[in-house]
Amino acid sequence: MNAPVIGIDLGTSYSCVGVYRNSKVEIIANDQGNKITPSYVAFNDTERLIGDSAKNQVSMNPYNTIFGTNRLIGHQWNDAKVQYNRKYWPSEVVNEGGKPKIQVKYQGRSLRLCAEEVASMVLFKIKETAEVFLGRTVHNAVITVPAYFNSSQRQATKDAATIAGLNVLRIVTGPTAAAIAYGLNIGKEERNVLVFDLGGGTFDVSVLNIADGVFHVKATNGDTQLGGEDFDNRMVSFFIKQFKQQYKKDVGHNKRALCRLRKACEKAKCMLSTQAQASIAIDSFYEGIDFNTIITRSQFESLNIDLFKSTIRFVETCLCAAKLRKSQINDVILVGGSTRIPKIQKLLQEYFGGKELNKSINPDEAVAYGAAVQGAILGKNKHEIGRILLVDVAPMSLGIATACGIMDPFIKRNTTIPINQMKTVTTYHDQQCTMLIEIYEGEHALIKHNKILGCFELTGIPPAPKGVPQIDVQFDVSTNGILSVAAKIRNTGGSKEVIVTSKRGNLSALELQRMKLEAKKYKEEDDKQRELTASKNTCESYAFNMKGILEEALSKCKLVVDWIDENPTAEKEEYDAHKVDLESLCKSTIKELQDAANSS
Ligand code: AMP
Repeated sequence: MNAPVIGIDLGTSYSCVGVYRNSKVEIIANDQGNKITPSYVAFNDTERLIGDSAKNQVSMNPYNTIFGTNRLIGHQWNDAKVQYNRKYWPSEVVNEGGKPKIQVKYQGRSLRLCAEEVASMVLFKIKETAEVFLGRTVHNAVITVPAYFNSSQRQATKDAATIAGLNVLRIVTGPTAAAIAYGLNIGKEERNVLVFDLGGGTFDVSVLNIADGVFHVKATNGDTQLGGEDFDNRMVSFFIKQFKQQYKKDVGHNKRALCRLRKACEKAKCMLSTQAQASIAIDSFYEGIDFNTIITRSQFESLNIDLFKSTIRFVETCLCAAKLRKSQINDVILVGGSTRIPKIQKLLQEYFGGKELNKSINPDEAVAYGAAVQGAILGKNKHEIGRILLVDVAPMSLGIATACGIMDPFIKRNTTIPINQMKTVTTYHDQQCTMLIEIYEGEHALIKHNKILGCFELTGIPPAPKGVPQIDVQFDVSTNGILSVAAKIRNTGGSKEVIVTSKRGNLSALELQRMKLEAKKYKEEDDKQRELTASKNTCESYAFNMKGILEEALSKCKLVVDWIDENPTAEKEEYDAHKVDLESLCKSTIKELQDAANSS
């Protein structure tokens, strides 16, 4: 495979892309010169904006700006997490057949987009960034997802890539990719590492054993709804309250003001990582009132201390699942922008008995770096990099529901993937000829506490007393962590197979096809808009250029006329000299005009 394979860290807040070239990984800067691109998409009357340009205009256009879709992807409308996040997003999220959709206005028409489509737009921008850098079309990518993403969320990410015109060679989890970035430089010596990955929207902790190029994930844990955005949210709520106390006004329903406040809070939060206090200054914040206030680092910490402490509990559980003691961890590696928060570092360091945390890799770029390395291995640079083998795990237990509401686990959490597991089940009633297979994930013995991933009905079971028919149910988890389940009735050959995605959640082949076509249309509209803007700019700059040249000549003519008026009785030589001067300026003006006209 000669085509370049890019490595993409598709983050909740920011995304990053890298590629292996000239014997090294290069992290690619976008058109603004930034190596991380906000995972933001915005729409207005004329155009679609993606990345920095979308994030920069959020407070002017809050209702039509979308972000944080990693928290929506692979979820259903009635999921509590969707309902919680809705409150904090400025754009409207609506229920369409059980799937959450984001409603925006674009070119005067109303659009309803699912999370996959929004993610595909971010991926499209990332793909374009890489293509400009490489000077060629890119088709293949390795994409990272949070380690705690389930099958449905991973499938949805893959679908987003398909819509963006990318072929996903492999889905790698964020911490594993970061471990590659770290592990490339540690030689052959065996090490147990704990990757603590706290980004904008998600938190992952993974324990890996690295030995001789083999990256073996021992256990993973995390929360796909915990990250920097939650710390921002806490600050936003704190200041809404403060503003209310101070001015007796509730700003909570003003989306524009909230967007400005959120932006200021994120900035203040980042400043508090290096300073003891930060100020918030928002002119004309609400009903003409300027909002000027400060927040100290301790205030920020006390607002979020429960969230910060919860990360340590995940670390504890993960170590326990990996069957390792704290003292057996050689390195604690920090990844993700939120690991810059001093209190989080302190809690983690204290947990590890004062052990120095490893900050040797760039927390913003490490994941894309590792993905690019994996891309190179799957592409043409395999021999340059040497042997690297990734052995990942299933983040959650997977199983089916029994008649009495008990979870029958097929694959236990932290089992190495790929894996397939078969069990034989039977009927509960006499003459039962259909069976509903409900697939769940989760650690609880009762299915009502776990999460349903999908279900299908197996028909054609030959009539027989209960317990007699034998149905083989097979669970298959691919290297990408995507689950498929097949059921087969023994002796009859009747069978059914599904790729397990969330219940009604993931896209059908037809929907994917439609979205791919729409993505093409969006691109055409973007190109048209870009051409229109370019033409407008060229025309305007031509007009200003000409105007400038002519104005210079005109002002000189005016000076000469004024001089004649003021000097009606000057000498012949003086009139001649002014004429020569003006003539030479006019000649050069005419030449400039001709040159400008020819070069336009
Ligand atoms: P990531 O998903 O890894 O790109 O991380 C993005 C998150 O990190 C966002 O919530 C940022 O606000 C946060 N972040 C970036 N820099 C800092 C910093 N210096 N202090 C605290 N949080 C930060």
